Amino acid sequence: GKGLAVFTSGGDSQGMNAAVRAVVRMGIYLGCKVYFIKEGYQGMVDGEDNIVEANWSSVSCIIHKGGTIIGSARCQDFRERPGRLKAAKNLVDRGINHLVVIGGDGSLTGADLFRQEWSSLLDELLSSGQITPELREKNKNLQIVGLVGSIDNDFCGTDMTIGTDSALHRIIEAIDAIVSTAYSHQRTFIMEVMGRHCGYLAIVAALTTEADYVFIPESPPPGDWKKRLCDKLEQERAAGQRLNIIIVAEGAIDRNGVAITAEQVKKVVVDNLHQDTRITVLGHVQRGGNPSAFDRVLGSRMGAEAVMALMESTEETEACVISLDGNQAVRIPLMEGVKQTKAVAKAMEEKQWDKAVELRGKS
Ligand code: ATP
Repeated sequence: GKGLAVFTSGGDSQGMNAAVRAVVRMGIYLGCKVYFIKEGYQGMVDGEDNIVEANWSSVSCIIHKGGTIIGSARCQDFRERPGRLKAAKNLVDRGINHLVVIGGDGSLTGADLFRQEWSSLLDELLSSGQITPELREKNKNLQIVGLVGSIDNDFCGTDMTIGTDSALHRIIEAIDAIVSTAYSHQRTFIMEVMGRHCGYLAIVAALTTEADYVFIPESPPPGDWKKRLCDKLEQERAAGQRLNIIIVAEGAIDRNGVAITAEQVKKVVVDNLHQDTRITVLGHVQRGGNPSAFDRVLGSRMGAEAVMALMESTEETEACVISLDGNQAVRIPLMEGVKQTKAVAKAMEEKQWDKAVELRGKS
């Protein structure tokens, strides 16, 4: 059977295990020899016990677990050619020439580079006597399919990344809990949520928890936001509301590109309105806990589709990412989504927020 390996790379997210499980089982079902690569690219570079054959039952009892059971890592070695050469040797030795990478745009960029270099890496291994001509011939093509695992929903080209829905569940559970205590004591709570340069978690959390105010990176508040914030909070209290909830995305910024922090917002509220104000930073709780039904289904569908895409791929096939378009799992060229995601980051850096939102498009 064909040699296929799956690994998770970059930040973990809930639902990665469902994807790993689906890749292993669909791979076995279609007659592949399936491997786990543990600890992301680091495990690929280091080889040995980090690359192990998977069987049907090695992915039993993992679909409900958060994180990734095969480990994830950031790997400096893989950024350099000597690291990728070692990785290539470890794969070729085991007959692995089909890869499913589950990670963010960095991990997918690394995968794309690896595939572009594959022939020359094999040539180098052959000329230095590390592999035989037979092994080179048998593994001459490397096929790669990517899945996007991230709680941030910051990847262009897919409606939802694996983990976003579960993170939202964590966030709204926490806000609901805060609301009841805030109500009792007539307090104002500022909740800091993750998302890096993407405001998706913050804005959906705000919508679903009836928050009074939200700060996101893509829409820095124009004009005197401090006054508008205070006016809004006062108006809510005057209407009889006993509490206020303000959500601050971790990447929130003002029109000058300077961070708007929970501390700063608290100071504005306390100095101007003298409200009893507290900050809750949700932190890594958002990345933890069991995946939601949505993420389990998403991971399962994406994983199965990834293996099917690999099995159908030929030398000429472009590497792809499996993405969610409406309710369909579709294949998009790997670098298309990565490039678009990088273009969004660049527009944000240049303070062209409208352009960033437009580029991000449906996602
Ligand atoms: P997250 O969204 O959670 O940050 P990510 O996949 O974007 O996930 P990165 O830290 O950017 O996370 O990338 C993960 C790993 O992928 C890196 O540690 C590195 O090993 C590899 N990688 C990233 N970019 C490249 C690149 N340009 N060339 C080679 N390898 C890369």
